[in-house]
Amino acid sequence: MIYLDNNATTQPTPAVAQAIHVATTTLWANPSSVHRPGQEARHALELARKELATLLGVPSREIVLTSSGTESINLAIRGVLESNRGGTLPAPTDPHPLPTIVTTRLEHTAVRDLVLHLERQGQVEIRWLPLDARGIADPAALDALLDDRTALVSVQWANNETGVIQPVERLAEICRARGVPFHCDAVQWVGKMPLPEALPCDLLTFSAHKFHGPKGVGGLWVRRGVGLVPQTIGTQETDRRGGTESVAAIVGAGVAAREAAAWLADPTARAKTAALRDRFETEIIRRTPTTPGAVINSRDCPRLWNTTSIAFPALEAEAMLMLLSERGLAASAGAACSSGSLDPSPVLLAMGIPEPLAHGSIRFSLTRNTTDAEINDAIEIVVAAATQLGRSSASTR
Ligand code: PLP
Repeated sequence: MIYLDNNATTQPTPAVAQAIHVATTTLWANPSSVHRPGQEARHALELARKELATLLGVPSREIVLTSSGTESINLAIRGVLESNRGGTLPAPTDPHPLPTIVTTRLEHTAVRDLVLHLERQGQVEIRWLPLDARGIADPAALDALLDDRTALVSVQWANNETGVIQPVERLAEICRARGVPFHCDAVQWVGKMPLPEALPCDLLTFSAHKFHGPKGVGGLWVRRGVGLVPQTIGTQETDRRGGTESVAAIVGAGVAAREAAAWLADPTARAKTAALRDRFETEIIRRTPTTPGAVINSRDCPRLWNTTSIAFPALEAEAMLMLLSERGLAASAGAACSSGSLDPSPVLLAMGIPEPLAHGSIRFSLTRNTTDAEINDAIEIVVAAATQLGRSSASTR
């Protein structure tokens, strides 16, 4: 199977799998115990936290380990909201006292569904940040949405479906000037793209399984001084996230962070994989049936090097995905959690992609280990599948 679904999850590297295996068998003591085996587990855990902190360029103590990106997002958004309710926000001057959260319609469901849930519960009002025609957040519009009711701004660094990159540094600068905390969902960024020397935001979410670490380890970086109320009460993670830490998985995440940092240190390696993605796109456009032809979604936007979302206008994404899988290629339609549904991805629609294109859009996501030979084979499989489905859809029209 050629695996081009790396935005859904990545395969743990051999070193990661080995480290988890060793830690499972040798470091199984409770890292909060005072005896020697407990302290050995604690030591390994803290070394792994340090590797993750180095990847982010932040102090270790500012990282809260969680179970996933989704949990980190819940901790960030709910934690900051609750902290504001404790009185750090100035008293609202308008008669409608609900705090507001500013976010975009492009967020992963972990953010989108959470803020919609909080709104339904009457806890917040959402202010949707306007996007330009290409689906990029407009910094000038952000400034106009902030006021003394704004509890938090949450914007993703890169989109999981199209790879489109948001102007996070600009958005964060505006928030900083207005004294509003800024959370960045960087799950698709961390481990794939270099981070600036100083993180521009106040809270940042990442997830180890997106950079060849195990599932079950996420993290939230919280800038020192940012108020955050824990959402799982317990003594671990310096009272910020209760629950005995999954030491072996965290050790694996540490190895994954170290490997990702080493890979990121060599920009030519990234350029090489980006060139594979570009060749894949060019060949698909050139060789798939031309009436109507395939289209690269968000091609003119700044995008992650590893992601391409390709629309096959006359085809249904689900049928295409199944055929690709039969022929030995794993890809996905929009977010993994929404595959299986025939509705076009709301994120693609929010990016201004017309409905017929959104219906037939497939996401292919590469990784640093994707090879030339895999891309050659993937091109053949996609061209053959699009030709076969194009023929059958023409004959039923
Ligand atoms: N945010 C983005 C942008 C994602 O792509 C994902 C996962 O696909 C998440 C958050 C959730 O991360 P996790 O799968 O670790 O819960």
